[in-house]
Amino acid sequence: MFAFLSEILQKNHIDCFGILPLSACRITKPYLLEKTGIADGSAILLAVPYFTPACDDPLRNVSAYAVGRNYHDFFESLYHNVLPQLEKAYPENRFVGFADHSPIAEIDAAARAGLGRIGKNGLLLTERYSSYVFLGEILTDLLLPTQVLEPAFCEDCGLCREKCPMQECGICLSALTQKKGILTSGESATIQKFGSAWGCDLCQEVCPHTKKAKEAGTLYTPIPYFYEKTVSHLTLSVLDEMEEDFFAERAYSWRPRETVRRNLILLEEETKKGDHS
Ligand code: SF4
Ligand code: SF4
Repeated sequence: MFAFLSEILQKNHIDCFGILPLSACRITKPYLLEKTGIADGSAILLAVPYFTPACDDPLRNVSAYAVGRNYHDFFESLYHNVLPQLEKAYPENRFVGFADHSPIAEIDAAARAGLGRIGKNGLLLTERYSSYVFLGEILTDLLLPTQVLEPAFCEDCGLCREKCPMQECGICLSALTQKKGILTSGESATIQKFGSAWGCDLCQEVCPHTKKAKEAGTLYTPIPYFYEKTVSHLTLSVLDEMEEDFFAERAYSWRPRETVRRNLILLEEETKKGDHS
């Protein structure tokens, strides 16, 4: 099974995966697991890298995960391709794919399956791609031979904490840029100070595991999907000119266009202030 799985995942450019018995996964959403009809079996953990050269744009003002196309669509087409192959090879068994909205604690499971270590920034740190990966998993009632590792943790260098805007502003910048509606003047000032139209990567950027992956030349994703239709520097005019279909492919489209627009207005106000001073 491992060789077969490896082959079909490699064909989809995925080289970071591992297997864990379902019994070793922490179930966080039992109702989701119940819907699959799978009571026991295995979880095939996937780390999908997404960092591309477009994320190196010095003017980038959206989180690296939002530069390329929406990862939910990627997982949908991945599962559309992979699951029928597994079902054909193992007709007696069930296979169900998840990403993000998952029945299991993904980071913990990925660490136990050997995909990487758990960082103090709350992210999985993989060897090749650092934390610039989306996690997903295929659950199956097939009992696959595997071993369960004790999760490894990062060296707690403290850099992510030092750089985190929360220290100063008391709120996560990423969550703030995604908040709907009108912001307080303090919240607006935070967005302006850090110059983010969407998300925050500071705790990933400063991590030594990111530096190591960069130096080793492994950080960029081999997945062509994330190289297409990239937008690294958002402006009001770029946003307003986006066709609905194009906008729907952006990670920030889970919020109304108005949310990211509000952030861009704040950033442009700040630029104008700077120009007049
Ligand atoms: S910056 Fe340091 S403490 Fe934070 S996740 Fe990376 S290694 Fe761990
Ligand atoms: S995303 Fe940014 S603000 Fe939020 S915890 Fe990480 S560094 Fe702090």
